Amino acid sequence: MPHFNPVELILAKREGKALAPEQFSAFTTGFLEGSIPDYQMSALLMAIFFQGLDPAEISSLTNCYIQSGNTINFPPSLRVADKHSTGGVGDKISLMLAPIAASLGLSVPMISGRGLGHTGGTLDKLESIPGFRTQYGPAEFQALVEKHGCALIGQSDELVPADKRIYALRDVTATVESPGLITASIMSKKIAEGAKHLVIDLKIGSGAFMPDLARARELARLLVSTGASFGQKVRVVFSNMNSPLGLAVGNALETVEAIEYLKGNPLRDTKILTSELTAQLLLSAGLAATGPDAFRMIEDAVASGQALTKLEEIITAQGGDPRVLEDYSLLGTTSVKIPILAEAAGWVKAIDCRAIGYALVRIKAGRMKVSDSLDYGAGALLIPKIGDKLERGEPIGEIHANHPAQAEEVARLIRAAYTISPEPTNKEDLILDII
Ligand code: URA
Repeated sequence: MPHFNPVELILAKREGKALAPEQFSAFTTGFLEGSIPDYQMSALLMAIFFQGLDPAEISSLTNCYIQSGNTINFPPSLRVADKHSTGGVGDKISLMLAPIAASLGLSVPMISGRGLGHTGGTLDKLESIPGFRTQYGPAEFQALVEKHGCALIGQSDELVPADKRIYALRDVTATVESPGLITASIMSKKIAEGAKHLVIDLKIGSGAFMPDLARARELARLLVSTGASFGQKVRVVFSNMNSPLGLAVGNALETVEAIEYLKGNPLRDTKILTSELTAQLLLSAGLAATGPDAFRMIEDAVASGQALTKLEEIITAQGGDPRVLEDYSLLGTTSVKIPILAEAAGWVKAIDCRAIGYALVRIKAGRMKVSDSLDYGAGALLIPKIGDKLERGEPIGEIHANHPAQAEEVARLIRAAYTISPEPTNKEDLILDII
């Protein structure tokens, strides 16, 4: 490789120039090998944050991330598909989507994350199942997907190690919210795992990191074009995160809600979103010819019990205790349940989902740092959505915790997260757009 000077490269980006593929490659490789220190990588990230990346640069960076580790290549006969969510409150969609999709013939290599800050993570919900193993190397992961149609695991050090190292730096240098960096980070993982069809649940609202549809559309365009440059078909569903999704927020509670869904008892909003995201994958992969066909297939997969059977197969294959499907107490229980009651009558005008997520961290339903421990049983059941009418003293929900004083405090914080108006407020659509 020709000699390159990292300072010149940082300077070029700082001045708004586009970087060439080999420049990204030299910088990333140098960083991973230790010849480029954290402070130079941080400076480059900040320059990118302010100057942005054009689509060709995003593809180059995505490629560097992918090349930094192993990649999975499934046999071409498999229809390999995955979903990514940008994160929200009460988002347990993966626990339903993965077994439904696998039971319908898709192969789903799902690499999930842990909850952090106000958002939950699929990995934590899975780990509320006793024995469920989430750490696998790429070869074992691939074998699980090929045998069972699905595996749900955590990020391994062998796939896309560059993203793991660089994301940790972005987190502490205020350079996370860059569309180009977010795109390379998300797409590299989804391409390296071998998915050919991807649906992204791009959440917008008080519980999401995207505040508005215009910014979300900009990110969506980059995600779709980057996927296309690697031969991946990407669809984006823009979904509303102004109300918590479903009823449960908290790991064991959300897992119960997901199992109940697959037993034929879905909640309205989780059903709308799960069906839409799964349908987009079936259409993209050619397993359904039309939207109505896809929705019918999904409905049948749940009604026939085949999706629940698939979940049981996945749990067993990954070492989990399948008795959780009948005995929910195995997922984790709590000693305290206290109601959250509305203090005034009126209509729910706004819900600060972020505040709800942060409040629940206090009872260890979530975490602030990756190293924080969790109480799987802890969480809340939250009933009303924006536009719903409440009477004074009517339950907004219920806190499940192990310490009465903490539960009272969290109930107070969650009650404060609901703005109740004396004027009627419109209900909001859950799905805002699809591209
Ligand atoms: N999720 C990711 O995986 N990466 C980002 O950069 C942001 C969200």
